Amino acid sequence: MSGVELQNVVKRFGDVEVIHGVDLKVDHGEFCVFVGPSGCGKSTLLRMIAGLEETTAGAIRIGDADVTHAESAERGIAMVFQTYALYPHMTVAENMGFGLKMNGHPKAEIAAKVREAADILKLEPLLKRKPAALSGGQRQRVAIGRAITRGPQVFLFDEPLSNLDAELRVEMRAEIARLHREIGATMIYVTHDQVEAMTMADKIVVLRAGNIEQVGAPMDLYDDPDNRFVAGFIGSPS
Ligand code: ADP
Ligand code: MG
Repeated sequence: MSGVELQNVVKRFGDVEVIHGVDLKVDHGEFCVFVGPSGCGKSTLLRMIAGLEETTAGAIRIGDADVTHAESAERGIAMVFQTYALYPHMTVAENMGFGLKMNGHPKAEIAAKVREAADILKLEPLLKRKPAALSGGQRQRVAIGRAITRGPQVFLFDEPLSNLDAELRVEMRAEIARLHREIGATMIYVTHDQVEAMTMADKIVVLRAGNIEQVGAPMDLYDDPDNRFVAGFIGSPS
């Protein structure tokens, strides 16, 4: 089981506290969406879960393990960012297998994992290409493929579609939803797009200035927002 639990998590940058003691439980296999205005701490929370940012106080658990002070590589997570950050000199297949290669996995195993991920994301025809020969949507698909190849228990997405045009966003949303159904991993997904939040989430977490404002299923927040701020984010008239 690999849910994610935050217990009174605090983040300070120098003297400035930006996360003020967040408690949250994301169940195993759940698709949890973080929404909230720019600067409210969405990326910081994800980066703490990923182990890319130190946690000032409180605890982070993944499955049964307290990972608060664990190295990022030991947490069993993979993160997909807004910018694709593919290696330009490597092929798609090499990009997707790079993490496993760095961790010393055998070639045959890497090839099998890359094929498996390529199959899920329909990337086979592109495996030999370099990133420069891909569209934005294809590059983001490769970035997701790279995450799948690592076989994580938990996927973290930080506004992965916000650089794509509207049509492609719709397509990629469906693809990520299908990925979630197929592999059943726990996913935490940051977006400022209300449609994305409403259509993809099992659970929406509304953040405001380093605190959780409300947590609930999309329709519960829509029908019964605690306040105007939540209503504003979920898009129901207040
Ligand atoms: P969001 O992703 O919701 O837009 P962030 O998590 O990026 O918000 O930022 C939350 C707050 O933390 C902001 O006030 C931001 O300026 C601050 N912050 C983020 N990263 C750093 C950093 N490395 N050093 C100092 N302040 C930071
Ligand atoms: Mg952010």
